[in-house]
Amino acid sequence: DVNAPPMQVKGPVEFQSAMNAFNDMQARIQRFITDRTTMLAAISHDLRAPLTRLRLRGEFVEDVEQQKKLFRDVDEMQAMVNSALSFFRDDGIQEAITRFNLSEMVNTVLDDFRDAGENVSYHGLLNEVYVGRPLSLRRAITNVIDNAIKYGGSVSVSMRATHSDVVIVVDDEGDGIPSELHETVFRPFFRNEPSRSRKTGGIGLGLSAARSTVRGHGGDILLVNRQPRGLSVHVMLPRTEMPLPGQNA
Ligand code: ADP
Repeated sequence: DVNAPPMQVKGPVEFQSAMNAFNDMQARIQRFITDRTTMLAAISHDLRAPLTRLRLRGEFVEDVEQQKKLFRDVDEMQAMVNSALSFFRDDGIQEAITRFNLSEMVNTVLDDFRDAGENVSYHGLLNEVYVGRPLSLRRAITNVIDNAIKYGGSVSVSMRATHSDVVIVVDDEGDGIPSELHETVFRPFFRNEPSRSRKTGGIGLGLSAARSTVRGHGGDILLVNRQPRGLSVHVMLPRTEMPLPGQNA
């Protein structure tokens, strides 16, 4: 947790210098994380303009092959910048809470992926109305589905509800995530080894941002390995008539 205060160790006086060193190291790590986060936010923001210009200049490249390669690189960089920005822009508290059709919203996400040539199926509820922050949730669900496509190949999304919760399940048929990493992958900047070597344009913020949004709705994201292969990501959202933090009652 980036925002957690550093842990302070206290104990017998004879351990004081070791404990001071430990506390000092904790504080340094904390500062390092904060600095890195602030810096990344600034860089990502500032990279947007030159990337847009680069894309425009690309229009004038005459060699079609070269142009294609250039656009691919720009797209990859833009995906990274967007994923970083969507993390820092997660101003869920500011977004107003509204009543909206969650099934429709999820299906607009799927339509965007289909427009981009991806094959994703949907089954389950078609008219589930939910009270929450639609844009933040849309971003969170997009991140989860984007991962399933990047790392999982064939993707199927479903939605079901009980009287108390709505659950969106995103199933894929990729390599999954070893269960000992099921918590770790939610840490900011963490990428599992095989993903780092892939050209997926991720920087390890998607899941962390998605979980913080979903937790902000009183829910959670859980990972379950599928048999014989693949990952199930369960996005659980409580259905509540109680005001959420930041909601005007
Ligand atoms: P990013 O996709 O930018 O690397 P995320 O925070 O979205 O970052 O995901 C963290 C890591 O979790 C990924 O790098 C990947 O290793 C792993 N991961 C996420 N989703 C899946 C999935 N559906 N199947 C396999 N691995 C996944």
